Amino acid sequence: MSFEYSERIKSLPPYLFAQIDKKKKEKIAQGVDVIDLGVGDPDMPTPEPIVKAMQRAVEKPEHHRYPSYEGMLSFREAVAEFYRRRFGVFLDPEKEVITLIGSKEGIAHFPLAFINPDDVVLCPDPAYPVYKIGTLFAGGVPYIMPLKEENNFLPDFKSIPKDVLKRAKIIWVNYPNNPTSAVADESFYRELIDWARENNIIVASDLAYSEIYFGNQKPMSILQIDGAKEVAIEFHSLSKTYNMTGWRIGMAVGNEKLISGLGKVKTNVDSGQFQAIQEAGITALKMPESELQKIREVYRQRREAMVKALQDAGLEVYSSTATFYLWVKVPKGYTSAQFVSLLLDECGIVCTPGNGFGEHGEGYFRISLTLPTERLLEAAERIRKLKI
Ligand SMILES: *Cc1c(COP(=O)(O)O)cnc(C)c1O
Repeated sequence: MSFEYSERIKSLPPYLFAQIDKKKKEKIAQGVDVIDLGVGDPDMPTPEPIVKAMQRAVEKPEHHRYPSYEGMLSFREAVAEFYRRRFGVFLDPEKEVITLIGSKEGIAHFPLAFINPDDVVLCPDPAYPVYKIGTLFAGGVPYIMPLKEENNFLPDFKSIPKDVLKRAKIIWVNYPNNPTSAVADESFYRELIDWARENNIIVASDLAYSEIYFGNQKPMSILQIDGAKEVAIEFHSLSKTYNMTGWRIGMAVGNEKLISGLGKVKTNVDSGQFQAIQEAGITALKMPESELQKIREVYRQRREAMVKALQDAGLEVYSSTATFYLWVKVPKGYTSAQFVSLLLDECGIVCTPGNGFGEHGEGYFRISLTLPTERLLEAAERIRKLKI
């Protein structure tokens, strides 16, 4: 028997972390106290009221049957209420909100609803890899928009050539950004929406980190911009906000036709998210601001301590007021891969090389603040001893 992978699978970029994963396992086997700053997965547990709500919900027989495809209306109403309270954005829970099995699921499926073969999708780089891979799976062509430090890691969408624009159907943006931690302001979003309306391009915004912020300026939703609902869909998630990555619950909101297109894909691929999880999600979305403030405060303290310690160790950290990532410059004389390798070999520290997020991530590496401060500082101390 000889089964061949599809061209789609064969054309996937090589898994850049395979070598790191292997080396990490070897180090652990050798008894090295490995500090893993690689994974973007909150270390803190899901808040207790959410867990309790899940325990109650799981006992209800009505939740044991197939859920509705588009999600429980009560969950979608809670999403709309969250958007109203947090962003001042009004959504029709029936038509402008859909439940996702984690936002990754929606991000990956969305191009299937709007992309024909050879249509272009404008993808930032460095970025969460799913924008590009979802495009490829739909037969689309990713067009790379480099995110450069001199532009505060915002894409220069106005410089995209005319012939590309003509074929472009979707532009992806993600602020607060993974991996660079950059934030976008109102004028960026306003120009983007005006430009997208002029060029008939769908704006797909990924707002996974909207609640992980430390400055006075709260990150905004793109739907706060006038006219955004004509062209925009926004993907959001309970994963990072409420320490719920394992639960797989997210949502897409925005333009009715865009939501309904995604819904048509999902109706034919999955059968919705377990209602008990949605019910627990309602409890999450209704949690008082003070609970989120506690989570933010933990990340804020870690960020402050770690940025200072890394600077003392001679590293240059991109200054940001959001996300639980640090985007750090690789010292002169190394590539991202070489330096990350050195950190693992010499310090027992796992970090993510910038080029793992695309070629324009070269020259940087990403640190996740998803470990207690003392472990972060231990990692910084090991780096300091390298004397780079
Ligand atoms: C973590 C993350 C998500 C959210 O993923 P879920 O599938 O909702 O857990 C989406 N986008 C980015 C950029 C992320 O880092």
